[in-house]
Amino acid sequence: MNYSSRKKNKTVKYIILHYTGMKTLQSAYGRLISPLSDVSVHYLVSKEGKIYNLLCPRFKAWHAGKSQWRKDKNLNNSSIGIELENKGHDHGYTKFTSKQYGSLKQLINFLKINYRLNDECILFHSDISPNRKKDPGEKFNLNKIGVYRFNKLKINNKNLPLSKMLSLYGFSNEYIKTHYDDCIMAVKRTLKYKKINKNADKDFKNNFYNLLIQ
Ligand SMILES: [Zn+2]
Repeated sequence: MNYSSRKKNKTVKYIILHYTGMKTLQSAYGRLISPLSDVSVHYLVSKEGKIYNLLCPRFKAWHAGKSQWRKDKNLNNSSIGIELENKGHDHGYTKFTSKQYGSLKQLINFLKINYRLNDECILFHSDISPNRKKDPGEKFNLNKIGVYRFNKLKINNKNLPLSKMLSLYGFSNEYIKTHYDDCIMAVKRTLKYKKINKNADKDFKNNFYNLLIQ
């Protein structure tokens, strides 16, 4: 398995959620622990709700790749990665199971206490790499694990420009400039839209606003 050590001044600030995007649990497991692959992760949660701890979070796993969130870059440095078993958009994207949600909730609660993280630290791969990644995707429901990411934002202006809303959500300014449409689509996944496109109409703006004040 491939991993690196964390730099001394880099503490864990985030948890990044993924899906495996492979046909079977065995193939995903094999890839994540193989020294020949360039990906690794701390935890894997199967559809049956089994939690595999593949790497101690003291070490840096290779799950996020090129990524940004607010002012942070390359989030492998400062995050714990969790993979959820799911075939993903390319191989037959399915609902996440209630056993999976149950185990994930326990795992996240444990990590939140141990690493002093709050809800706003729990991110999707699609949030931090919106131009490259779709996971865990629009079938994933963050509220099912009791996480409400935006409850710390104090917003009371319904007429915010969309770019400002994207920045409050957490996208880096660079990504908002260079990957604007991808950022919109990432928000649509968080909002669990059935159709993911770049249209930002009035309805979308309303839903987005409601997410931020939730
Ligand atoms: Zn991912």
